[in-house]
Amino acid sequence: MHRPPCILWFRQDLRLADHPALAAALRHGVVVPLFILDETAPGGWPQGAAKRWWLHGSLAALDHALRTIGSRLVLRRGPAAAVLDEVIRETGATAVAWSRCYEPGAIARDKAIKAALRARGVAVESVNGSLLVEPWDIATGAGKPYAVFTPFWKALRGRGDPPAPLPAPTTLPVPAAMPKSDALEDWRLLPTAPDWAGGLRAAWVPGEAGARAALMEFLDHGLAGYAQQRDRPDIDGTSRLSPYLGLGAIGPRQVWHAVQSRAAAHPGQGGAAEAYLRELGWREYAYHLLYHWPDLPERNWRDGFEHFPWRADYSALQAWQRGMTGYPIVDAGMRQLWQTGWMHNRVRMIAASFLIKDLLIHWRTGEDWFWDTLVDADLAVNAASWQWVAGTGADAAPYFRVFNPVLQGRKFDPHGDYVRRFVPELARLPADHIHEPWTAPADVLRQAGVALGRDYPRPIVDHAQARLRALAAFKALGKADEAAD
Ligand SMILES: Cc1cc2nc3c(=O)[nH]c(=O)nc-3n(C[C@H](O)[C@H](O)[C@H](O)COP(=O)(O)OP(=O)(O)OC[C@H]3O[C@@H](n4cnc5c(N)ncnc54)[C@H](O)[C@@H]3O)c2cc1C
Repeated sequence: MHRPPCILWFRQDLRLADHPALAAALRHGVVVPLFILDETAPGGWPQGAAKRWWLHGSLAALDHALRTIGSRLVLRRGPAAAVLDEVIRETGATAVAWSRCYEPGAIARDKAIKAALRARGVAVESVNGSLLVEPWDIATGAGKPYAVFTPFWKALRGRGDPPAPLPAPTTLPVPAAMPKSDALEDWRLLPTAPDWAGGLRAAWVPGEAGARAALMEFLDHGLAGYAQQRDRPDIDGTSRLSPYLGLGAIGPRQVWHAVQSRAAAHPGQGGAAEAYLRELGWREYAYHLLYHWPDLPERNWRDGFEHFPWRADYSALQAWQRGMTGYPIVDAGMRQLWQTGWMHNRVRMIAASFLIKDLLIHWRTGEDWFWDTLVDADLAVNAASWQWVAGTGADAAPYFRVFNPVLQGRKFDPHGDYVRRFVPELARLPADHIHEPWTAPADVLRQAGVALGRDYPRPIVDHAQARLRALAAFKALGKADEAAD
């Protein structure tokens, strides 16, 4: 006799290893792996274009992995509740399992679905597959959510290692008849006219195997120097796991344990491992903030910024988006983003500070652009990071700390190699001038083949003046005492 199947509803957990919801589904015997493309976008954040590209690759890889263990991925499109009903009807499933999502729209959707299914006698198991700690499971001594990172991290770190990752199943029992599936290509997640994804294809291999390869590469070549090199965009010193973590091709417990066991085998790498785990801690912290302050992506977390005189300067915004501000480190970052769907963390901070403070453009405008162009676009981390840079967030950088793009460039890209890679028109400038070409002597520019204003823009604002303008705007909010610091 056939046992009724359990639907495994894949969402942001597109992998087979360390997958507690998959383990839960397997306990029912027969599993229907389902992914639903729900373009009603609960919560109002439809997936950006780069992430849609990433999703396509991740789904193709997941289907391939499922086929190697005797199953396949069922793809359906439509409002999630209606699609689940359909698949339950078609398969006679008596249970649904999923990994929790933490975006406010997803929480509301999942609560409603869970209640409706349970009312009809369908069992629902929702488990933690994406975080080290559930946002509601960690609190200050007073029982409140954390609003400062360091004590949050101390509390999380103090819990010791998370549970060891679960192995991937070697076989997945399927029902006698698998429900029909859409063809992935029909979902048009990939750009066609024009196909702007060439740089993304060259930079990334989405999916679980790609995540494993990135992790191994980092353990072998990045971890030992991570603490010193993580701020250097000219060196491949970070793990580049963010897009994989974003759609769950790998989970944070797997990364945590892999880093810990590498450090245990190489005792000199303990400090680097701690520095790395702390970054995973920032990701957890962003989810903690989003869960407790669900309007984090839309509203200043900190009061007092409601009347900030943001500017609506479309041509400055366009210059920033296209990497044509005249500040090479900002432009290199924005072009890296456009070409590869990813930007180094240090440069994200510099580019975000430039938009917010030098151009006085609202952080939400930058948040939207990153949302559309990042393969790792993540509602919690993106919002928390933009608010951090803007000075409007929990535990944020103080508003008066304005990044100087020239000094940042010199410090973190000391030879100019990062700029040379993404701003090739400046490639022949010597390192002393590459971060401020407008101060280079005429003969140096000539020898490098650069005519400012023709081959590369002059700065669209003067940083020193822009900084004063930002501070004045800040003071006008009545924060003069802080600004004087
Ligand atoms: C304005 C701005 C916007 C950002 N938007 C996003 C976003 O949408 N999605 C996203 O994943 N990251 C975002 N970040 C955080 C960070 O830049 C990326 O996580 C990091 O660059 C990813 O590269 P990596 O995997 O090589 O990082 P590694 O240095 O190898 O770090 C390992 C992991 O730790 C986490 N992590 C690292 N730095 C941070 C951080 N500052 N905050 C939270 N988690 C972190 C990521 O999951 C990352 O994959 C943003 C940062 C800024 C300043």
